[in-house]
Parts: sequence; C-alpha cells; structure tokens
Amino acid sequence: NVPIRTVCCIGAGYVGGPTAAVLALHNPHVRVVVVDRDQKRIDAWKGRHLPIHEPGLGDVVRAARDGTSDIEAGTEAARQPNLFFSTACIETIKEADICLISVNTPTKLRGVGAGRATDMAAFEGACRDVAMYAKPGCILVEKSTVPCKTGQLIKDIMEAHRPGVVFPVLSNPEFLSEGTAVRDLMQPDRVVIGSESTISGHRAAAALANLYAAWVPRSRIAPINIWSSELCKLAANAMLAQRISSINSISAICEKTGADVGEIAKSVGMDPRIGPQFLKAGLGFGGSCFRKDIASLTYLSESLGLPEVAAYWQQVLTMNNFQRDRFARHVIATLNNSLRGKKVTILGYAFKKNTGDARESPALDVIRILLEEGPKSIAIFDPLCSEADIKHELSVLEKDFAVCKPDGPVEVLQDPYTACADSNAVLVLTDWDMFKNTKPAPAPTKPTLAESYDGATPTGVLHITPKLEQTNLNSKPPTPPRTPKISPLPADIACRLIPEPSCPIDCTE
Ligand code: NAD
Repeated sequence: NVPIRTVCCIGAGYVGGPTAAVLALHNPHVRVVVVDRDQKRIDAWKGRHLPIHEPGLGDVVRAARDGTSDIEAGTEAARQPNLFFSTACIETIKEADICLISVNTPTKLRGVGAGRATDMAAFEGACRDVAMYAKPGCILVEKSTVPCKTGQLIKDIMEAHRPGVVFPVLSNPEFLSEGTAVRDLMQPDRVVIGSESTISGHRAAAALANLYAAWVPRSRIAPINIWSSELCKLAANAMLAQRISSINSISAICEKTGADVGEIAKSVGMDPRIGPQFLKAGLGFGGSCFRKDIASLTYLSESLGLPEVAAYWQQVLTMNNFQRDRFARHVIATLNNSLRGKKVTILGYAFKKNTGDARESPALDVIRILLEEGPKSIAIFDPLCSEADIKHELSVLEKDFAVCKPDGPVEVLQDPYTACADSNAVLVLTDWDMFKNTKPAPAPTKPTLAESYDGATPTGVLHITPKLEQTNLNSKPPTPPRTPKISPLPADIACRLIPEPSCPIDCTE
C-alpha cells in the first residue's frame, strides 16, 4: 500500500474547497493543503467568510482547518488542524504524496473548437507544475471534468518533463451538485476511481480508495478503467441535462394543447423505470457544468468521427436555449409587445437555489432578450449572488447595452422589495425558498388568477404587477411592507400569474 500523509488539492473553487475539507475532516491524520493562484480566494478560505456558500460547509471547514480543543458534546475527541489553504503551489506540490487537480476546465472561447472544446489551459498548467516539482511516485488525480483520454495527455506531459519517472495517474470525477455539495460529499452515491491496468495504477487506486473508505462504504467505491471514468462524468451530466430538455420539450406541447406538464411529470415519474428526479419543467438548466460538458461531449463525438452522436446531444442544448427564448418572448408579449418605459424585476440570478454561483445563469439569456426591447430598467435581486459577480457575468452585454455603467439599464439591489417597487413585471428565475409564495390575497378590485399557485417555486414564473392593470402606468403601486429579508413574496407584488396554457413554463408543482 502507498502511504498517503500529505494531500495537495490544486484549485480552491467549488469542487476543490469542499472536497478537500470533507477529505480532511474524515482523515484527521492526513495533512490536506489546498492551493490556488488566486490570493483573494485563499485569504477567504482562511477567514471567517468563505468564498463560496454551501449549506454545512462552514462547520466542516472550521473543524478541519481550526481543529477542536474540547471534547465536543462528549462524542468527538479534540483534533489538530489538518486542513490548510495556501498560494505556495510549488512548495506544497513538492511535499505531496497525492495531487488532486480540481482547476477550472471551461469551454474554449476562441481557436479550434471554440464554443465546444474544453479549454485545458489551467489543467495543463497544473499538470506541468506537478510534472516539474512532485516527488517521484506522487499520484496525480484528475478531479476536474476533462475529455476522455486526458489521462494520456497527462502522461505525455509527465514524460516530457521527467522522462522515466513513474507518476501514476487516476481519474476521480466529482459528482457533487452546488447547493448540496457537503451532503453529496458526505454521502456520495458512488466514488468512481479510474486507473490504468498496471500494478502501479492499481496500487494508486487502492491508496485513494483508502482515503475515501474513512467515511464511504467500500461497496460505493467503484474502481474502473481510466477511460470509462473520464467518460462517465460527461455521460452522467449529459443524461441529467437530457431529462430536463425532454420535459421542457413536453411543456411546449402542453401549452398548445391544454395538457398540464406538472401532471405529466408526476405521472411519468411514478414509473419506476423513469423515476421522478429532474422532471421539473422550467427555464432549463444552467450552471458551470451541464452546458460545457455536453458541448465537450459533442466535440469529442465529432472528433471521433461520430457526427450522429454529436447531433443527438447538441439537440439537448438547442432545446435548452429554446426554453429561455420562449419564456423571454412570452414576457414581452404579455407586456403588450413593448418594454419601452417599463421596469422588469428579476428575483433570483443564480442558476439554482442555495448557491451564490452566478456563472452560466439562464437569467443572462432572459436579460439579453429583454434588453433588446429597450426597457426603462431591469432590477435584479438575488439573496446570495454578489453584485460584483452578477455584473461580471453581465459584462458580456456591455458592448451592446452598457449594462455596467452606473446609469445603465440594469441595477442589482440588495433588497427584494426595493427591487420590485414600481415594477411592471416580476420574474422568478431561481427556485429560492424565500420566493415561495403563500396563497396571494385577492387583488382589491378583481379576483386573483393565482389561486391555484400553491407555494411551489418553479423557475420561469411571471408575475404581472398591479401596475399593468392600471390605465395610468405612471401611478405608483402600493408600497410593499418592510419585512425581514427572508420572507415570502408579498401578495401585492405577486398579484397575478398568467393563466395556463398561455404561460410558457410549468407554473404548478
Ligand atoms: P472554479 O473556477 O470554482 O475553481 C477553480 C480554481 O482553480 C480557481 O480558483 C483557479 O484560480 C484555480 N486554478 C486554476 N489554475 C490553477 C493552477 N495552475 N494552480 C492553482 N490554482 C489554479 O471551478 P470549479 O467549479 O471548482 O470546477 C473545477 C472542476 O470541477 C471543473 O473541471 C468542473 O467542471 C468540475 N466540476 C465542477 C462542479 C461544480 O458544481 N462546480 C461539479 C463537478 C465537477
């Protein structure tokens, strides 16, 4: 057995930080050091306010990073700190027995394969550092999501820098979801470890499996072939995304026929061969993984001379874009085909609840389409995404719409009531619990059409504010009550839901 005393995790992001923290928590005798080139990120991991929000993450990091001096609640012995964060990449790599590479692997923006191929620059950079500075025998683990056959690329890089030195390469893809990362890491469905079929490959896989076995039952640790391991991550994400596009395609048929996509999802999901997960129609999938991983799969398929396979998966992305487009156009149509002089509020920017990750949000596409109609303003509120992160994402629209200028058309606000005040329409684009609506009170003059809206929080819900009902668009709607931030949306804001079937997105559970 290869003894593992020091783990180096390269990349302190959404995967590297939580993974290293859970690994350290369950292996108190192993020193786990997370390195990153980003000084600000490392400082945040060392401080009180972690750079990413994940339920339960603070407790895990504190226990492993700071240690515990007392016997807590009579159940845990005191422990020494064994989780460290640093920008000293080279020094840490030199001491490591195993290096987990969890750096970003986004889609290439230019050059060959732009828009689909994986940009391996950060990954290659990390591999080069390991190749140049790691001690012989150090195990190199792909935790980043990478194209199939990346293991060969790593071996080539190692061989070029340190000819003849053995560095076993493993693939250990991460299946956590943002928003439930700690739970997913604590109780994983499976831990896949891909290795080469050599003695050193099997030994390395066993050493990594031993680290996981500190808290994961052995039956859930799956040693497999390295190429299968690389491909299974892309396959898993592609299939999850495919289900979302499948139900969204059905939602489009529902709107034309009067069928209820919620009822369909429920009955289809009751078939045990299908199951109920990932069948909620909405704005489509977002986040930093699904789109880029499917794009990578289509590029890989084409590179392997399989255009039919590429076209098949491409359609999942096409359907996803269609859904956002449909929703935004429906908003415009509902506002009398013009946004001139009108304010639209967006509640929720993150691609899902319980994360502050603003990357690849469906909201960006919706905002782009709305801006083309020249609205007076678009107000955005999200409980976790920072204004800086949202503005960073919106900066791709800067050239056409000057969104980042102080007097530009988009404003990010810290309070949902201020964001909704004086608005013509409120769009709920993230399934945050705080946007869950209790049954709205009847509108003062007309009966509300939202009676059936029972508190489910699908994305892509359009609320038309009272203002639209008034003939004088300049008169002020009632001022929303000032209440604590985390509370249901007030009834006077969520006044009217577009009745189905004209609503393009599923509006019921
Ligand atoms: P991220 O952008 O949040 O973090 C990556 C970090 O790596 C950054 O902080 C960056 O500064 C650092 N980095 C880049 N090159 C470096 C180098 N040479 N040395 C040191 N640090 C370096 O990315 P993420 O969301 O954590 O994703 C990481 C990988 O995991 C990606 O391949 C992604 O596809 C995959 N993944 C992500 C998720 C998710 O939910 N975010 C889930 C499963 C898998």
